[in-house]
Amino acid sequence: DTPTATFNRVMLKISGEALMGDQGFGLHPPTVERIAREVKSVHDMGVEICMVIGGGNIFRGLSGSAQGMERTTADYMGMMATVMNALAMQSALEAMGVFCRVISAIRMDEVAEPYIRRRAVRHLEKKRICIFAAGTGNPYFTTDTAAALRANEMACEAIFMGKNGVDGIYDKDPQKHADAKRYDSVSYDEVLTKNLKVMDASAIALARDNKLPLIVFPLDEPGGFRGILAGKGTYTRVHG
Ligand code: UDP
Repeated sequence: DTPTATFNRVMLKISGEALMGDQGFGLHPPTVERIAREVKSVHDMGVEICMVIGGGNIFRGLSGSAQGMERTTADYMGMMATVMNALAMQSALEAMGVFCRVISAIRMDEVAEPYIRRRAVRHLEKKRICIFAAGTGNPYFTTDTAAALRANEMACEAIFMGKNGVDGIYDKDPQKHADAKRYDSVSYDEVLTKNLKVMDASAIALARDNKLPLIVFPLDEPGGFRGILAGKGTYTRVHG
């Protein structure tokens, strides 16, 4: 019995670290599979799904440059890392019978499709999941910005940001302060002025300027993603 979804097309952003399980680094296939199952359960509701996966479980440009590597080279390595994560997710989804495309912002035609907006939209209409890889294709950005950019381009109704170990946005770090309060709803302006840790500022600006809601929810809550699509669960909604 499939509940009706409240959204038709969404962007799911997860960090690369969400795929590493307890390993502390890299890809943990059972964890990738668990997340793929959550994604499939939303796909089964008829929701069109875009995904952006970070690369921090493999490589981050900033940490490379902090160790002396030239920044843009390090950032390109970070973008490559997101392609590996995207391929792992594609493999897990397709093993479950869900058709999906990896679409790269940096051309690597043997591995992934190049990004062509109309083509990606067509995949979504055909209920194929689109995993947007290689971030924005530009150094000095993050995959949060890529998620906001592609969500706007694909006319997603919201960005869903899945987090591990936290069920939304708090006024202070809930791991350090027992009296931290979770927001049910908060504006992008408040996120910026109160410097709440959600996404980087360029991603927030893109989402805010285009009135794209952001839903921060617990990715490690089984059935959580689907629950929110069906109108249940705890999360924080960021609005324009
Ligand atoms: N990156 C980039 N441009 C982009 C997206 C990502 O240069 O448009 C690089 C950047 O070096 C970043 C790395 O890719 O550190 C991995 O992405 P991110 O840090 O966003 O991954 P997450 O923290 O979500 O796992």
